Amino acid sequence: MSEAVAARDAALQGRADALDAADPLAAVRDRFVLDDTVYLDGNSLGALPTAVLPRLSDVVTREWGELRIRSWEESGWWTAPERIGDRIAPLVGAAPGQVVVGDSTSVNVFKALVAAVRMAPADRTEILVDAATFPTDGYIAASAARLTGHTVRAVDAAEIADAAGDRTAVALVNHVDYRTGRLHDLSAVTAALHAAGALAVWDLCHSAGALPVALDADGVDLAVGCTYKYLNGGPGAPAYLYVRRELQPRFDSPLPGWNSHADPFGMAPQYAPADGAPRGRVGTPEILSLLALDAALDVWDGVAVADVRAKSLALTDFFLDCVAALVPYGRAEPITPADHAERGSQVSLRCAGAGEVMRELTARGIVGDYRRPDVLRFGFTPLYTRYADALRAARVLADVLAGGPDTTVAAGTADAGDTAGTAHAARPTAVPQETETLDVPEGTT
Ligand SMILES: *Cc1c(COP(=O)(O)O)cnc(C)c1O
Repeated sequence: MSEAVAARDAALQGRADALDAADPLAAVRDRFVLDDTVYLDGNSLGALPTAVLPRLSDVVTREWGELRIRSWEESGWWTAPERIGDRIAPLVGAAPGQVVVGDSTSVNVFKALVAAVRMAPADRTEILVDAATFPTDGYIAASAARLTGHTVRAVDAAEIADAAGDRTAVALVNHVDYRTGRLHDLSAVTAALHAAGALAVWDLCHSAGALPVALDADGVDLAVGCTYKYLNGGPGAPAYLYVRRELQPRFDSPLPGWNSHADPFGMAPQYAPADGAPRGRVGTPEILSLLALDAALDVWDGVAVADVRAKSLALTDFFLDCVAALVPYGRAEPITPADHAERGSQVSLRCAGAGEVMRELTARGIVGDYRRPDVLRFGFTPLYTRYADALRAARVLADVLAGGPDTTVAAGTADAGDTAGTAHAARPTAVPQETETLDVPEGTT
């Protein structure tokens, strides 16, 4: 390390120590099972909360093992989807009775979109989707459109508000872009969609649990989100569906399973939908993963989402500063907006050879993920990520990129003034071909 870099590094260490010492959420970290790894993939799979294992152990040994069928009633299994929905509700700005947990996000996108189309006037024949959406949302929207005789139009998320017109039935919008970490203006976009007479369906997968969401206040119609990212519910934890209270009577589910019946045990041949949030249910709830999620939600006790947001922005600011100060110039360019109003809780860096780089980072104890071809993603979960972790991640990234994958300088682009060993040593280099390294987990989502 050159003297200049060493001085910058020391200053950053001082900042990290001061920020960690003043962090109002520092003690919440103890509610998670963590190790020496710097875990920056909570935007794909949240870390394990300590409360989960004892709870699941009790659910399996006593509720299932001893009480067996009685647990549907005596252990509250039957009503768990709504009860746990009401625990998620404050995290998304919803009053009780509007959130139900169950099925995957993909399935809930389907329910929400088809139900929205069925609520919209018949002459509104178009579904708008965010062009850069997480693929499952786009696939499901296309299928929902085919089933309902609608068309899908993909538009840039920033233009969805303007794109909505008198043909638009509904728009499906991501609150935070999974690839870039860009945060969209839920309030303004919802208002614009309503002004155009369209319904707003929001996907909160990358926002709920990381930043404030105000579904009720912003008049959102329907929303979905997953619980295994910032809500730490565990691999494959069930997703949730929000249906605004006034719309619930008009929510006509495309998957009207017996669990959403007004009288499930009446076993009637005719379907009659339940009132309220249970109308969004389908079949028998995933009790083990639901109750793991229930225990995981204990980490929120006494935690204010405003503090989480403040720390998320401070952490991502600090990480961006560390990257700018330590990482060889031009090797990892932020694509996450600098503007706080447009930033979720992850930092994405455009980096040639991202797959190889992430493999090396992981081997050195820094776990993030990457998206093909050239995006490194670092998720910052304010409940357990420390400023010191952000600094360590940037240091290791700097080391990897200084010595890392093939960085052959293209003829004519080398800056002769550079000397190896300074932070800005490796000025624009030839972009190595992306080598797909499928043995490196990309993370699921
Ligand atoms: C994570 C994520 C999903 C995941 O969908 P599953 O059905 O749970 O696999 C969907 N949409 C977005 C935007 C996501 O980020």
